Amino acid sequence: MEALARIRIVLVEPTHPGNVGAAARAMKTMGLRRLALVAPRDFPSEAAWARASGAEDVLEAAEVHPALETAVAGCGLVVGTSARARSLPWPAREPRAAAAEAVAEAAAGTEVAFVFGRERSGLTNAELDRCQRLLSIPTDPGFRSLNLAAAVQVVAYELHLAARAPAAPADTLEQPATAEELERFYAHLERVMVLVGFLDPANPRRLMRRMRRLFARARPERTEINILRGILTAVERCCRRRGES
Ligand code: SAH
Repeated sequence: MEALARIRIVLVEPTHPGNVGAAARAMKTMGLRRLALVAPRDFPSEAAWARASGAEDVLEAAEVHPALETAVAGCGLVVGTSARARSLPWPAREPRAAAAEAVAEAAAGTEVAFVFGRERSGLTNAELDRCQRLLSIPTDPGFRSLNLAAAVQVVAYELHLAARAPAAPADTLEQPATAEELERFYAHLERVMVLVGFLDPANPRRLMRRMRRLFARARPERTEINILRGILTAVERCCRRRGES
C-alpha cells in the first residue's frame, strides 16, 4: 500500500464544494490521502466538510494551488482523465491499465498525479498537454460523463486493487523526468524549432502537441532529457556562431 502514498489526486477548478468532499471520501475509502485542488471555486467550505463524512482529514491536508503546473510539481507520471476523445488521438488507457502502471511506478519511487477536470467543461487541451497519459472510463457511448466524485471513485478503486496485487516491475529503469523538466524541455524544443525555421510561431499548436505525444509515449528518463537539452543548446550555439560569421 506504500505506493498509494505517492499518488495524488488533483481536481482542477472544482465548482461544487460537495464534489470536493465526496472526492475526499472516495479517496480515503481506497487508501488515497493526497488531494490537491487547483483554484477551487469555494474552499474551504461547509458543504465540502459535510460531504466528506469521515474524510475531513483528507480535506484538512489538501493542498490548494493557483495552477496545474505547481499541483503536479515533482511528478514523474501525470495521468489526465477525460470523458471525451481528443482531436489528436492521445494514448488513452482504461482505468485498470492506468492504475497498474501508476502503482508500479509509484512503488518504484515515482510521484504520480491523476488529474480531474471541471464539472462543466473538463480539462482544457493545454492542461491535457501536461499529461503523459489519458485515462478514459468506459461508459455507455451515448452518455460518457460521470459526476466528478464518481469518476474519482472509479479511479481510486482501481488504484486500490492494483496496490493489493503483487507489484509489477515498472517500465522506467531510472528516474523519469518530472513534469517541470518536461515542460522546460518542450519550451526549449519549441524555441529551437522556431530558431531553425522549422516551426512557424504563428501556427505552432499541432506540431508541439505531436512532439508531446511522442515523448509521452517514450517516457524519457531525466538523463535522457538532459542529453536532448544539451543537443538543443548545441544547435542554438551553432546558429549563433553562424549568425556572427
Ligand atoms: N462535460 C465535461 C465533463 C466533465 S465531468 C467534459 O466533456 O469533459 C468532470 C470530470 O470527471 C472530467 O473532467 C473527468 O476528470 C472526470 N470524468 C467524467 N467522466 C469521465 C470518464 N468517462 N472517463 C474519465 N474521466 C471522467
